[in-house]
Amino acid sequence: AVPVALVAGLSRAAHFGVLIKGAKPLEALARIRTLILDKTGTLTDGRPQLVSINILGDLSEDEIVYFAAALDQASKHPIAQAIVAAAHARGAVLPLPEHVVETPGEGVAGMIDGRPVVVGGAAFVASQIAAAEPQRNIRDAGSVVVALAVDGKLMGHLVMADALRAGTADLLAGLRRLGIGRILLATGDRRAVAERVTAGLRLDAIRADLTPDQKVLVVLTERKNGPVMMVGDGVNDAPALAAADVGVAMGARGAAASAEAADVVLLVDHVDRLLPGIEIAQRARRIAL
Ligand code: ADP
Ligand code: MG
Repeated sequence: AVPVALVAGLSRAAHFGVLIKGAKPLEALARIRTLILDKTGTLTDGRPQLVSINILGDLSEDEIVYFAAALDQASKHPIAQAIVAAAHARGAVLPLPEHVVETPGEGVAGMIDGRPVVVGGAAFVASQIAAAEPQRNIRDAGSVVVALAVDGKLMGHLVMADALRAGTADLLAGLRRLGIGRILLATGDRRAVAERVTAGLRLDAIRADLTPDQKVLVVLTERKNGPVMMVGDGVNDAPALAAADVGVAMGARGAAASAEAADVVLLVDHVDRLLPGIEIAQRARRIAL
């Protein structure tokens, strides 16, 4: 039978918006020593602002936003949704994308107004149009940059500002007080962005440019040194969440696939819920043992 203290812990955690899927994950949560955090949508709030546009072809700024947003309607990625919001704010009326193929965490390809369009990270877009990645054209190297290609040609970059959630430094300090000795970032985004966004957080390591499979490898490598918790929001995080001792999904606005793969779902859209979650788990385990 499951000790009463654990059951009570589950229900107390739920009051804080932390849905723990059973006594086993609750116990595991109390023993975590390493934390791996996703960036976009987890450490950042995933509601980035479109701050500038680099024109690289013969489309205007409005046309760049139009094509990127029209195609990104097909994606649940937080950056994609921010681009759609920016287009609506500019008064754009978006057609529905056709023949859509999404590569989770990298970008989307499809047809807009009968023209082939690719939107996503610079490396992904370059690979789709068989062009070299034009590093030097990325003026704002420390910001999230989304590339757009139309008719097989690179047309522009959308520069997005994606800031840390308020209170992130305090949260990490609190987690360290609870015994989490090692905190890492694992992101599909570029290293320069990851370093700028997390400057001052004193992370133990940053793993950047990761595919979903590489996020799994980071989790498995860290597990050799003890129980690992992985927190993420995206479809690209789901395999890593499943590979961790405790996978935690940002449930309120995250992808359904990540919530399914996770052991713990944060029903409130903020990583600061980890703190009461772990505190409650540690107390429940002390009482139950
Ligand atoms: P993280 O792993 O930190 O959550 P992601 O791997 O989800 O980051 O995203 C990394 C980068 O990939 C984004 O900053 C963006 O440049 C690009 N990207 C991924 N999917 C899309 C999309 N659907 N539309 C536009 N850009 C995308
Ligand atoms: Mg993410």
